[in-house]
Amino acid sequence: MPGQTSQKRALPAVMIVGGGLGGLLMATLLERADIPYHIYERAGELRALGSIMTLGANVLPVFEQLGLLEEFERISKPVPSLDFYTSDIQKLGSLDLKEFKAASGYSNYIFARPRLYEMLRKQVPSHKVSLNKRVVRIEETHNKVTIFCEDESSYSGDILIGADGAYSSVRQSIFKQMDERGLLPASDSENLSIGFISMVGVSHPKNPEKYPQLQDTLGHYSQVLGNDSRAWGVFSAADNQISWMLSSQLTAEEANEKRFSNAEWGPEANQAMLNEFADMACPWGGKMSDIFEDTPKHLISKVFLEEKMFKTWYYGRTVLMGDACHKMFPGAGQGAVNAFQDAVVLANCLYVMEDKDPNTITAAFQEYYRQRFDRANYQYNQSSYMSKTQSGQTWANRALRYAFLNYTPTVFQRTLYRWTCEYRPLVSWLPMIENRGTVPVLPQQGPTKLVVEKSVAL
Ligand SMILES: Cc1cc2nc3c(=O)[nH]c(=O)nc-3n(C[C@H](O)[C@H](O)[C@H](O)COP(=O)(O)OP(=O)(O)OC[C@H]3O[C@@H](n4cnc5c(N)ncnc54)[C@H](O)[C@@H]3O)c2cc1C
Repeated sequence: MPGQTSQKRALPAVMIVGGGLGGLLMATLLERADIPYHIYERAGELRALGSIMTLGANVLPVFEQLGLLEEFERISKPVPSLDFYTSDIQKLGSLDLKEFKAASGYSNYIFARPRLYEMLRKQVPSHKVSLNKRVVRIEETHNKVTIFCEDESSYSGDILIGADGAYSSVRQSIFKQMDERGLLPASDSENLSIGFISMVGVSHPKNPEKYPQLQDTLGHYSQVLGNDSRAWGVFSAADNQISWMLSSQLTAEEANEKRFSNAEWGPEANQAMLNEFADMACPWGGKMSDIFEDTPKHLISKVFLEEKMFKTWYYGRTVLMGDACHKMFPGAGQGAVNAFQDAVVLANCLYVMEDKDPNTITAAFQEYYRQRFDRANYQYNQSSYMSKTQSGQTWANRALRYAFLNYTPTVFQRTLYRWTCEYRPLVSWLPMIENRGTVPVLPQQGPTKLVVEKSVAL
């Protein structure tokens, strides 16, 4: 019933900093709820970058509620297993995903990140997005919060959502204020920990005669684990495109050395890393350079893969979501999933605000944190474990991988399935989606009314 409450209550004006995947889904939900919002994005255009991603039962019911599931299925392929190879392309083992469909009612899908980005971008009217707005500082007074941008413009609203990624300026700004007041937990002032350096891209459509994997209606996920600290892989995207990924695990010293380099996703002069992997065998035949050569250079991104779980997610009128408050390694494919779940739960909490009083804002943020922190923390730990299992190249990582791919008892895998499938927060004001899987899903959490403590001051 979008808009139903809008006549009855004073709606907060929401500013979203960051038009990434999380910020775009947040905006889509506020658009559907008729809550006023605006996105401020530092990039000059909303560019679709990145490579392979997977999504499944924790998020697809929300796409179904929003009427986006069919479009999503057109840009993706169901993936039955994750396959791992040695550098001479001998199969090391597989992670079987087929049971997910029966357990949850949804397949796991594999797709090129730029396609999902395009899909979400279309949901947000362009006049509600301001580009070239790099937020450098925020300030809060009793009745509003203000963002200050690099171009010297400033904007004010009732609520600020920091969806500005791992190096969030919004987070840095509130943490500075909290630190000055002695309110910041010590661990929140520590750096993110860098584990891998990675490069990703999506090729132009390739010839399916040469790569028969592309003819398959099912997706292929083929990752090679080299003999040294390197790993690389190819993954089938829709429309005969090939997503690819290269990664090198960093030692603690290397990570410290690189900490001050550019650590964000974005195309750069990447030739050195491409050269380093050019002669590596592609698991689908030929060399990796055959695929690099067919990838538009401006769509290749290099990034340090890092992790950190922040304890503080909100302060005053400002709340964080996505990578800004929990940066996960990509191994379990949970970065975007958790950003989307944050968006859903936060939107549900904003939807039930009866007024825009500071105490009501605090109550909404508290409820969001209560519902999300433990779940995100669990996925953070899973992501760390899975990344090391899949791509880690230390002796301990290899032993873990061997055991996981060959000896992990089915009962353990099923527990993992259950934990993954049972949690699927839905948009509270749209019709619910029935559970079509065998794993019971957790009841929808979330208040129809917020508990507002009048003593809480912003
Ligand atoms: C370009 C890109 C490519 C990626 N590719 C992959 C991939 O191939 N596979 C994978 O598993 N994960 C990938 N990720 C990570 C994954 O998409 C994220 O974990 C997940 O989507 C979380 O999204 P988010 O919205 O929290 O942050 P992000 O997706 O990082 O979005 C943050 C947004 O905020 C903007 N921003 C940052 N600072 C400011 C500022 N000061 N002012 C205004 N705007 C600002 C950024 O430009 C960006 O648009 C990628 C992320 C990005 C940004």
